[in-house]
Amino acid sequence: MTESGAQAKLLERLSSRIRDAWRSDPLYIDPIIVPGLTDSQKAAVERASEQAARSGLAHFIAIMPPMPNSEEATWSRFTSELAYAMHQNNSEEQTVVLFSQADDAARSYAYLVDANGPAAPPGSDFLARSSSDDFLPVELAVPYQMQILIAAANGTEPPAPPDFDTREPGDSGGDYIDALGLEKGNPDLVVFGTTAAAALGLSVWLLRRRTKYSWRNSLTSKRDPVRSEQLPDRVVSALEPLPEPHHPSEEMWTLRDRGRRAQEAIRVLIEAHPDWAVSADFSHRYGIENLVSTHKWIRARLRGSSKADPEVPRFCFLFPHHRGKIEKFALKQQGTTLSVDMCESCRDEINAGHEPERLMVPKRPGSKKPIPYYQRTDVYALSGFGSFQPLEDAVLESMGSPSTSSRGGQG
Ligand SMILES: [Zn+2]
Repeated sequence: MTESGAQAKLLERLSSRIRDAWRSDPLYIDPIIVPGLTDSQKAAVERASEQAARSGLAHFIAIMPPMPNSEEATWSRFTSELAYAMHQNNSEEQTVVLFSQADDAARSYAYLVDANGPAAPPGSDFLARSSSDDFLPVELAVPYQMQILIAAANGTEPPAPPDFDTREPGDSGGDYIDALGLEKGNPDLVVFGTTAAAALGLSVWLLRRRTKYSWRNSLTSKRDPVRSEQLPDRVVSALEPLPEPHHPSEEMWTLRDRGRRAQEAIRVLIEAHPDWAVSADFSHRYGIENLVSTHKWIRARLRGSSKADPEVPRFCFLFPHHRGKIEKFALKQQGTTLSVDMCESCRDEINAGHEPERLMVPKRPGSKKPIPYYQRTDVYALSGFGSFQPLEDAVLESMGSPSTSSRGGQG
């Protein structure tokens, strides 16, 4: 067996051991290091786990033996994959997962996981260090990092970071809690001071994150195609009869048939949602925009316009008004991976561990609860605005009359 093969096997075994242990207790301490931990170290990490449980968040903590530096990349991938797997196993919106290596100092891997995968607060490795660039000892690092993760998950202010004195802790056997009297209360209140830069950096990051993710808490209402694209006027001209192909061919007649299907789908949508242009549910506006754009392209092709793009318009799965550099992308969702069309900027965001904005619509008609449109079961979700099937096909199949839905396949 190769060295990397052997290592993969080891990590696989470690992964299943941790997952087995987490089934009965969200706090896992590797048996190898249990004898090396002091009582107050154990108590501190147990308290951190209890505190997380009280916050109501799904959480998992693993205290591990130290890993050699050279394996940092492997270890980082291992921990993030395990964190994501734990999230996929529960039905919670967010899961916090912390891996901390217990040694004389603790190197930590902290993850806040949601449907888009694990996000590590930027600089969280730095946050595991003191101002003198030492890693925080496990009894300080674990409670502190759990508080950061909980604050990040709830969008509240992060705790002030603990600092610890890197001078010898004296006769306490290397246990900072004993040495500093930290067992008497919240470590944050009694430690020497705060690492101001780290606290500031994290607050700024959290604030930005909160602003950045504020779209999650409200229905989409920005970038209204009814106004920005004079959609009602464009609907009127889109419904005018299609021309015959300028250069007749099998392909052009098929295209024309698709154009008529798009027109029919526009009529069906408008009839089913007469308030589409004023509705709080923006999926209808983007649905109409999708059909009108497809139709416009078909009309240009039929006319033989030299300016018409050879490819049919494509729409970003997450937010159909994103149209730049769309490519297929494997989007991880709870328990599955979807192959969808996605714009360059959303792909970049996801690859950087962020959650790009998406089209948020009412959970049910009239409801105030915003959910991503694709979590419903309507024609927009079924089609993914073109990622799964052309919207006109989804509309005609589920909302059209039998005569419209039996007319031909995709163009
Ligand atoms: Zn996008």
